[in-house]
Amino acid sequence: MISTILLGTTNRKKIVEMRPLLEPLGYSLVDLSSMPKSDSVDETGQSFIENARIKAITYATRYQTWAIGEDSGLCVPALGGAPGIYSARFASLSQESHSTASHNAPSLTQDEANNALLLERLSNTPTAERSAYYVSTMVLASPQGESIIEAVGECWGRIVNEARGVGGFGYDPLFEVIEYHKTFAELGPSVKNVLSHRGRALAKFLRLLCGVKG
Ligand code: IMP
Repeated sequence: MISTILLGTTNRKKIVEMRPLLEPLGYSLVDLSSMPKSDSVDETGQSFIENARIKAITYATRYQTWAIGEDSGLCVPALGGAPGIYSARFASLSQESHSTASHNAPSLTQDEANNALLLERLSNTPTAERSAYYVSTMVLASPQGESIIEAVGECWGRIVNEARGVGGFGYDPLFEVIEYHKTFAELGPSVKNVLSHRGRALAKFLRLLCGVKG
């Protein structure tokens, strides 16, 4: 029976979202802050699932433990799927970000700079074409480095014209769930956990996890 699982991330917000869903089932989730310090993993994959596999397998073998690799991001069809797998580094990888939003406010956090760039890129895009979806991919690797479970979840919405709400993280103040007329940053964590890409991927993941003998 698996009891402790390492979530291969330093993003506290991800562990805060995932822990309440795993712990009632008897799994204790730890993150990289509980492990000896080590190099970060290069996300060299060409898709979310490839990056999730890389993280899961690298951390599982490095620490000889069961490990989850989670890779997620936002895709905007009107932008050809961007920021996609580059969601976390969207503004820092872009040349535009040096000329406009972040140039005017150089003290922006990474999330704020990403959001400013997303709004800039969509500034001429009408409401009807501002649909977007989040993707979360989750892989469980064994201490021997085998991928045992792979799960994917998606959540569709649209990108609003200005940030609303203070909850969540990343692109949440700009991502509106159409049925609720509210962004993920306005909806509380319990609603986000049910509707979100991560909540959906985790629900599939947990159904499979119950069958794994540790
Ligand atoms: P990762 O840590 O490499 O998986 O990068 C995930 C990035 O995608 C984050 O830094 C955010 O920019 C974005 N992202 C993923 N999930 C969410 C979410 O639930 N809300 C807001 N942004 C998210």
